[in-house]
Amino acid sequence: MPDYEPVIGLEVHAQLRTRSKMFCSCPADYQAAPPNTRVCPVCLGLPGTLPVINREAIRSIVMTGLALHCEIAQETKFDRKNYAYPDLMKGYQISQYDLPICHDGYLEIEVNGERRRIGIERVHMEEDVAKLFHRVDPATGEGYSLVDVNRSGVPLMEMVGRPDLRSAEEARAYLVAYRSILQYLGVATGSMEEGSFRCDANVSLRLRGESALGTKVEVKNMNSFRAVYRAIEFEIERQSEMLDKGERISMETRGWVEEKGITVSLRSKEEANDYRYFPEPDLPPLHVEPAWVAELEELLPELPEARRARFMAAEDANGYGLSEYDASGLTDSPALADYFEEAVGAVREGHGGDEAPKRVANWMLSELASHLNAANAGIDDSPVRPSDLAGLLALLESGTLGTTQAKAALEAMYESGKPAAQVVEELGLAQVTDSGEIAGAVAQAIAENPSAVADFLGGKETAAKFLVGQVMKATRGKANPGIVAGLVAEQLGALKQ
Ligand SMILES: [Zn+2]
Repeated sequence: MPDYEPVIGLEVHAQLRTRSKMFCSCPADYQAAPPNTRVCPVCLGLPGTLPVINREAIRSIVMTGLALHCEIAQETKFDRKNYAYPDLMKGYQISQYDLPICHDGYLEIEVNGERRRIGIERVHMEEDVAKLFHRVDPATGEGYSLVDVNRSGVPLMEMVGRPDLRSAEEARAYLVAYRSILQYLGVATGSMEEGSFRCDANVSLRLRGESALGTKVEVKNMNSFRAVYRAIEFEIERQSEMLDKGERISMETRGWVEEKGITVSLRSKEEANDYRYFPEPDLPPLHVEPAWVAELEELLPELPEARRARFMAAEDANGYGLSEYDASGLTDSPALADYFEEAVGAVREGHGGDEAPKRVANWMLSELASHLNAANAGIDDSPVRPSDLAGLLALLESGTLGTTQAKAALEAMYESGKPAAQVVEELGLAQVTDSGEIAGAVAQAIAENPSAVADFLGGKETAAKFLVGQVMKATRGKANPGIVAGLVAEQLGALKQ
């Protein structure tokens, strides 16, 4: 079979978190608002209204462009993209055609230990469209659609990547890295599930070693990172099979069908729209002052790459000495990284303790992460605050809790939102460290298990372990295992003589 090389490019739309919409003063925060309550004559597309450019949106896109190593255009403009669809109130969308605000940048990704630089063709500004709800009248069985105009005019930033990606895994890493940058900049929430972050993929194949591009297929309707990965995998497979059979790939737009795990044809190239772009006559050309851009560059926060490197750096270099795995996992989102730094600070403030960063990282990435995942929640929603996690680690460090009890305590803390000490008190989780009390339990285990004792006396050392297990069971795991093991050895030793 011939060896095909996938060629993938992504186009990503991100809604910006500005206070107002792109061209009017309606609030841009529409997700929770009742339908058609975030509207005005401008975003309703009424005749005689004039758009005004949102400066905050321009600031956000310039910061994004800088973080993506793009050139920032000094002279730019808006254009009308014309098409007729009920979600478009004016019959055209204000977008940018030939003079995007940002162009020619790149994003670095790392997949399977290999770092690659993925080109970015452009990042431009446009406005979102209204939302349609398709319904069926139960009385007549007839279909109809409802329009919610709240989303119309929300600032939408489109990033067009170059076709530099070579696998579904790389595409996912690129998308995750891009979203991470937007979150660090604070310009977008980047939620695919909520629809504030949307991705289309252009996928084509060519024989490995060839430089000419194959016929590309555009894939839409992917609503999660996982869907993007699966849709691209499916498309690579589908196109390979067609090429193997000597069939031609047709240029088309296909939609991902999540339930079936396939892509289906939506429209062919012949049906493609001619958008008849022309400069938006209601808006003056936009001049971006280089001095302002330089000012914004100074304001760029520490970005994911830099923060990851710092988390791996030695402590005397302001780092935490974390492994690459931990550092990557903890710097995915700024909220996660902030939580980590706050928790480490609280541990150090509380009782010091060795290896605070490593221990916080372990508990965050395993136990806490599994509670969050099970609840489909983000770190921002965690009922266990950084100081609470530090409190739990302090009890573990002091020996008040063993690992098993600490896990149980975290679960209860997650469910109740109460601090560690309170949960441990209420559930009676504290470890028994009183050797007098433990010695009694050890004596009882020895009395109740004569055959194990005989085995031990006969030279079978592992029988002692069995007795430790019996004591742990009798104390419901609350005895300090180190003390139990010491006392078992001591009492068995006395029997030997
Ligand atoms: Zn409005």
